[in-house]
Formats: sequence, structure tokens, C-alpha cells
Amino acid sequence: MKPRIALIAHDKKKDDMITLAGEYRDFLAGCTLTATGTTGGRLINELGLVVECMHSGPFGGDLQIGARLVDGEIDCVIFLRDPMTPQPHEPDINALVRACDVHNVACATNLSTAHLVLGRLMQTKNEEKQG
Ligand code: PGA
Repeated sequence: MKPRIALIAHDKKKDDMITLAGEYRDFLAGCTLTATGTTGGRLINELGLVVECMHSGPFGGDLQIGARLVDGEIDCVIFLRDPMTPQPHEPDINALVRACDVHNVACATNLSTAHLVLGRLMQTKNEEKQG
């Protein structure tokens, strides 16, 4: 089954997300991708990825992704959070990260962890291809 990955980036981290996703573009193109609205729009427009877009984060997108995850429909979350800027939807952010912990779903909240997680998923996929 294709890895099902959720991608979310706060405003000051969106350029980092585009750079990251660009580096893993071929791998991500073979995954089922879900994203919050603005992040997803940029992934579609700038990288040509196929992404199912939820509402924007401050309008409930994190919660929509959280609900999918609780239903077992998300394998991994790449959530580039901005730790330096207060977010109006902080409770939603905490709810999503908590849901990841409750359901033991990998949640990368910074670039270093995102590279480790995506690199590992990509390696697993390549090994599967080689049989
Ligand atoms: P966005 O949402 O991709 O719609 O900007 C992300 C967030 O702020 O949680």
C-alpha cells in the first residue's frame, strides 16, 4: 500500500516544506498525500504533486487531518511547526500532535526529523521494489 502522508507547515516554514518536498518529490509522488489548505496549494502549484487539501490550519485543517489519523488513514505526519510565532489555533495543533502520540503515528515537527522519517520511508519503499 502507498504510504499515506500528511503535510502541514506554518507560514514561516512553508518555504522549508517546499524545499523538503522538492527533495523527496519522486517518492512523494508515489504516496497518498493530504495537507492543510495553504500548504497543499503550494505543493500542488509549485511541485505538481497530487494532494488532497483540507481546510487551512487556522480554520480546522489540522483537526480534519487529526480525524483521518484517528480513523487509521494517515501513516505519518510531517508538521513543520513555527515555535517562534504564537498560532491562533494552538489547541488544534496540540490536538493533532496528541492524536499522533495516542495512535503511535510518526510525527516529524522539524526538518531534521522530517528527513529521517521520509528517508526511512523511501528506503523501505525501494527495498520493497527490489523484492
Ligand atoms: P495552512 O495551515 O497550510 O492552511 O497554512 C497550516 C497551519 O497553519 O496549521
